[in-house]
Amino acid sequence: MGLTPMMQQYLKMHEKVPDTIMLFRVGDFYETFFDDAITASKALEIALTGKRCGLDEPAPMCGVPHHAAEPYIAKLVEKGYKVAVCEQMEDPAAAKGIVKRDIIKVVSPGTITEGGLIQAKKNNYLASIFSDRRVFGLAYLDVSTGAFYATELPFTADSGELVNELGKIEPSEIIVNPMLYKQSALIQNLETRFGCMVGLSAAAHYEKAACERVIEDQFKVFALDSLGLKDHEAATRAAGALLAYVAESQKKVLGHINHLAYYRIEAYMLLDLSTRRNLELTETLRHGDKRGSLLWVLDQTATAMGGRLLRQWVEAPLINREKIEIRQNLVAELAANPGALPELKTLLTKIYDLERICGKISFGTVNPKDMLSLKQSLAMLPQLKAWINSVAAPDLQSRYGEADDLQDIFKLIDAGIADDAPFVLRDGGVIKTGYNAEIDRYREAHTKGKDWIRDLESAEREKTGIKSLKVKYNKVFGYFIEVTKANLSLVPEDYIRKQTLSNVERFYTPELKSMETQILGSEERLAQLEYQLFTDIRETIMAQTRRIQQRAQDVAQLDALYSLAAVGVERHYVRPEIAEDGVIAFQNGRHPVAEAIMETGTFVANNCALDEGENRMMLITGPNMAGKSTYIRQVAILTLMAQIGSFVPADSAHIGVVDRIFTRIGASDDLTTGQSTFMVEMSEVSNILKNATRHSLVILDEIGRGTSTFDGISIAWAVVEYLSNPLTIGAKTLFATHYHELTELEGVKPGIKNFSIALKETKDGVVFLRKIKRGAADQSYGIEVAQLAGFPKIVTARAKDILAELNKGESAYRAGVLDGERAAALDNQVSFYSEMLEQAKERMLDSNEQAALESLKDLEIDSMTPLEAMNALNDLKHQLQE
Ligand code: ADP
Repeated sequence: MGLTPMMQQYLKMHEKVPDTIMLFRVGDFYETFFDDAITASKALEIALTGKRCGLDEPAPMCGVPHHAAEPYIAKLVEKGYKVAVCEQMEDPAAAKGIVKRDIIKVVSPGTITEGGLIQAKKNNYLASIFSDRRVFGLAYLDVSTGAFYATELPFTADSGELVNELGKIEPSEIIVNPMLYKQSALIQNLETRFGCMVGLSAAAHYEKAACERVIEDQFKVFALDSLGLKDHEAATRAAGALLAYVAESQKKVLGHINHLAYYRIEAYMLLDLSTRRNLELTETLRHGDKRGSLLWVLDQTATAMGGRLLRQWVEAPLINREKIEIRQNLVAELAANPGALPELKTLLTKIYDLERICGKISFGTVNPKDMLSLKQSLAMLPQLKAWINSVAAPDLQSRYGEADDLQDIFKLIDAGIADDAPFVLRDGGVIKTGYNAEIDRYREAHTKGKDWIRDLESAEREKTGIKSLKVKYNKVFGYFIEVTKANLSLVPEDYIRKQTLSNVERFYTPELKSMETQILGSEERLAQLEYQLFTDIRETIMAQTRRIQQRAQDVAQLDALYSLAAVGVERHYVRPEIAEDGVIAFQNGRHPVAEAIMETGTFVANNCALDEGENRMMLITGPNMAGKSTYIRQVAILTLMAQIGSFVPADSAHIGVVDRIFTRIGASDDLTTGQSTFMVEMSEVSNILKNATRHSLVILDEIGRGTSTFDGISIAWAVVEYLSNPLTIGAKTLFATHYHELTELEGVKPGIKNFSIALKETKDGVVFLRKIKRGAADQSYGIEVAQLAGFPKIVTARAKDILAELNKGESAYRAGVLDGERAAALDNQVSFYSEMLEQAKERMLDSNEQAALESLKDLEIDSMTPLEAMNALNDLKHQLQE
């Protein structure tokens, strides 16, 4: 016994898409078979059944209704599967033999356009990477909007820049060329870091000539120069392969993908993956929520497009002063019109996601309601323009005041699509009355026919005298007259029997039949014509996609600028002065997120004055919980906000543009790469030491804590020296540390200044004042903090004892050595600590032992008799036994 012909066809089709779950159309269902069925039934939580397939055992089978397949496809893709759709390519009723079938699309996380993976305010990127071991070419595309970018990155052993750039875009799927795919460590790293699907794309897709052709075809250009791809072979190959992959999976020409932007990564502030995460730019470190992130504070955008753009701005701060100022000027113009901002928001709120509607138009999935959304959005454009021209905002006006407001497209939809059009085209009533004479005629005939039928019931009742006579309709039998068995004797001669049921008989008359033909015929023709006209309107708009997209970008910009302005006004931010002098200074700065979360007025503002000279490095000491981390992050966040073009929470601010921000914050094992906490910390510091420049801003929140004290201090010390020295790096640095020993560096090494966070000692313990001040903290107050945390009294009391003893040792040492060669003593820190430890060891004895020891030392044995000596020994023993 062999497989049935249909199952043979199934297997043959599946061979074309081996890495997918294939949905195979059979009648009204998409079925999956064999292993796919088992996987799908689990993933979708639907029943697994069986189908006779010609083998001894039935094939496992699991299916979903064809008209409701989209949510199921989305669910499978969200769970990490690729889904292929194998469709019937001819009418099964008309087919001779096995119905022709073919794969019409493959859906994966990077090519899906609907469902949970598609968030309104976030792009969903498919990335493609090409490498020839000299350079990485990276291209990424949001299929749902057409946003398409490419760049090149240096090829390094740890692929650092590549990973950082991917961190910026968080792709949901990555494809790579075969050579790269062989680097299993990198592939695994990408998979785990970004939790995304990484797949191999065929070598042929990455061929240079093929890529150039695909790109030129897609963008209708004759040379790659116009896209900025000239001399960027790796980027070209990544982009070409990406387009080939999309074409192969979607089997469609996608007109909304009509623009590719090549950029250099150095054009933006470079942020490594851990810095992005540590600064909580778009989500919190702990739970990955937007709430609690910088974007959460800054995002008051009213449209999805604006939301996506603002996110991009936050992910890619600028480094060019002029560009920052251009953005600032626009924000400032809006912020200067606070009274008019609510109206702008109202207008923006009425604008739907034009970019994704363009995507749907090009995918052919746009529905009549989407068309109405498009119309409503377009109706806002002239109003938006009027708003811009009504406020005092010359820069905004010169940018957006004359924009094409697409009223031709508005008029087309307004004329063609009914105001109450349904979601589903098939439901009818889509084309507006008056748009097409033929449609109007069919509708009239249809309405007349229906009226005639409605009147028929009462007419026939009167004629026959059968009060319960009914005129009904069903899909199988069409229109009929129904009479109960009891009344059959009253049925007139001209009724023709159609169907007999248990207690009724159904009839028709020649007139009813002819009216039925007229009604059903007009319905069918109407549906065809509505479909045709809707498609025509869609195609007409499709030809204008680029214009809509350009306007969508304007709306996105205006919305993102609006958001920055609105937040600035609401939260009393100021416009920072942007400079290139390496100075970062602000008065009364606040941490935007902490301030937003805390009760109004409780956040304590602080100043900052960093420069490239004497004040390069702030060494901040002070107890835990004093506010060190908050302060150093605040400096980084304010700098970053300024470079986005945003206003900043401060009374005044002057920001010298930085090229990169680095952070070393927090300690956690990197489970994804299997590194210990200390190893992660050291790799992060190593990255900073290798990549920071004089123009960078470095934030260090404790280093060297994951190892022994000596190790830790030594590492921290050396790092501080290397970072602060302009001959090595000389970066502006904020270093929060518990190692008081480091405070000795002020005055010894140029550029380093000690700071601490003020606190007040009261009889109940310490009170944190949260104010940064010059000078090192006098002590760590660790024990006081432990007390605040509810340590048992006996433990904190004992800790205080030990500390007092340790301090005695330290001051004795200082008295002896620091008066002399101060610098030399500093170089001998390590020996200082060995000595300290020795002293500490001695003093770790409890007070009793200590006293006994002292008495032992004081014994003058020479002048004692043997008996006296015996007695003294006995006393000591007793003393120790107490
Ligand atoms: P540290 O790094 O010194 O241990 P944190 O920066 O983590 O301290 O701050 C501890 C807590 O103090 C924070 O969670 C916050 O609630 C509060 N805090 C910090 N800075 C301020 C400030 N400037 N104003 C008000 N509260 C603050």
